[in-house]
Amino acid sequence: MAIQLYDSLTRSLQPLRPSQPDGVFRFYNCGPTVYAPAHIGNFRTFVVNDVLRRLLELEFGADKVKHVRNLTDVDDRTIGQTQKEKRPLAEITRKWTDKFHADCDALNCLRPHVEPTATGHIREQVDMIEVLMQKGNAYRAADGSVYFKIDSFPGYGALSRIKERELKITNAVADADHKDSVSDFALWKAYKPAEDGDVKWPGPRGASEGRPGWHIECSAMSKKHLGDTIDLHTGGVDLLFPHHENEIAQSECCNGTTFARHWYHSEHLLVDGTTMSKSKGNYYTLSDLLEKGYSPMAVRYALISGSPRMQLNFTLDSLHAAESALKKIETYAKKLISYGAITSAEFPDYFRSADIPTPWSILGIVGDMLRNDLGTALALGQLHKAINEFQFSKESNPPYRFQIELAELSRVMFMFGLRLNLDEAPKADIPAAVTALAEKRWAAKQAKDFAAADALRKELAAAGWSMLDRKDGYSLEPQKKA
Ligand code: AMP
Ligand code: ZN
Repeated sequence: MAIQLYDSLTRSLQPLRPSQPDGVFRFYNCGPTVYAPAHIGNFRTFVVNDVLRRLLELEFGADKVKHVRNLTDVDDRTIGQTQKEKRPLAEITRKWTDKFHADCDALNCLRPHVEPTATGHIREQVDMIEVLMQKGNAYRAADGSVYFKIDSFPGYGALSRIKERELKITNAVADADHKDSVSDFALWKAYKPAEDGDVKWPGPRGASEGRPGWHIECSAMSKKHLGDTIDLHTGGVDLLFPHHENEIAQSECCNGTTFARHWYHSEHLLVDGTTMSKSKGNYYTLSDLLEKGYSPMAVRYALISGSPRMQLNFTLDSLHAAESALKKIETYAKKLISYGAITSAEFPDYFRSADIPTPWSILGIVGDMLRNDLGTALALGQLHKAINEFQFSKESNPPYRFQIELAELSRVMFMFGLRLNLDEAPKADIPAAVTALAEKRWAAKQAKDFAAADALRKELAAAGWSMLDRKDGYSLEPQKKA
C-alpha cells in the first residue's frame, strides 16, 4: 500500500510519490525558531514529521529521500531576544540550536539530510527578492524595505482559501510600514538601529541594508537545496497562513513553476484546552518532563498517541499511560526475543536482515494504518491488539513464526521511531529497606489484609517509591514528581 497523506491544498488524500526522474522524494519541513527551548508542542510536529520520514525511507529507499528542515535563526523573535538579553544573535541561536539537537536525539528523531540556516542563506534570499522586484511582484517602500505585492499573484489565497475581502486589499497607503496595501508582506526589512542592534546585511539592489522577512527564508532554502519544485512541504497548522501562503506566492512568482506538489499540516498540542505556546508561557519542555522522571520514549509515545490531524490535549496522565503502554510493548518484545532466540542488540535492525520470510504477520496492518494518512493512533491501538492476541505456545506456531513476528515488530518500532528498553531495569539501586517494605506489603495483600497493605503503600510512598501490582507479582519504581 502506497503512503497516502491529506493534502491541505486539494483538501483530499493523495498518494506520495517522487516527481523527478532521479526518483528522489524531496521533502521540506519548516524548522524551529531558535530563540528559546522548543516545547513539546513543537516536538509533536517534529516527531510526526519524523514518522513520515521513516515511512518514506521504507517506501522509496533511504537514499531516495531528501529531507530538509531549516533553522530560523533570524526573524522578529530571535532579534527581540537579543535585545532582551543584550547578547549577540549568534550566541543565542547557537545555544538553542544545540538544545534542539539534543532534544531531537533524545526523542530519536532522524537528523534531516540538510539543516540550512536563514543567516547562512542571505545571498540566496536577496537574489530571489531581486528577481521578484524585476518581475514586478515586489516593490521598494519609502523606508527602503521591500514588500511582496499580493495582488500581483492571482493564485494568492489558494492554500488557505482566504477570501479577498478578508485580505483587506486596499489601495490606501498603509500605515507606518509604508506598504501599498495592508496585506502586502515584507520580503526585506530595512534596518532599524533601535530594534535590530547589529543585525543587518546589505539589501537587494535599490533597497536599504536590513534583514530578510521570515517567509522568504524558507522559499530560498527550499530552492537552494531541493530545487524549484518539491514533492512535499510540511509544518504545524499555524504555518498554513500566512507563512505557507506567502512561500507559495514568492516561490511561484520567482521560479515560474509549481512550488510544492503536496502540503501537509499537523495539528497542535494543547495544554488545558489551549494551544501550547512560548508566547502564552503554558508549555512543557522535554527537560521539564525528564526532570519529573519520565523517559524521552514515553514523551514520544504520548506525542504520537493521537491522530496527527487532530488536536491532542497533553496531560501528565497521558504521559503515564504512554509509559505503561511502552512497557507492555517492551515485555512483549523481550518474550518474543527469547522465543525467537535472537539477542536484544539484534532487535532494532532485525527487520533489515533480509532473508526472513515475511508472509502474513499480525503486525502487517499496523504499517498500513500508518501509511494511510499517518494513522498513528489507530496503528498503536492495532499494535496492542496484536500483542494481546498473540499466542506464544510453540506447538500452535509454525517454525520461523517468532522470527517473522520479531522482524515485523522491529519494522513497526522503526516506523514509530520508538526505541525499546530491552534490558532489565537495574534492581541494585532499590534500597534493601524499601524491598523489605514491599515484601511485607505483598504478603499483606496476599493475606487480604488490605488495611495493612494500604498503610505499607503509604510508607513506601513516603520513602519515594511506588509499587505496581500485577497478578503474579509486583515491581517497584521511584515515584514521579507531581
Ligand atoms: P516555531 O519554533 O515557533 O517556528 O515552530 C516550530 C514548529 O512547531 C512549527 O511547525 C509550528 O507549526 C509547530 N508548533 C508550534 N506550536 C505548536 C503546538 N502547540 N503543537 C504542535 N506544533 C506546534
Ligand atoms: Zn517555513
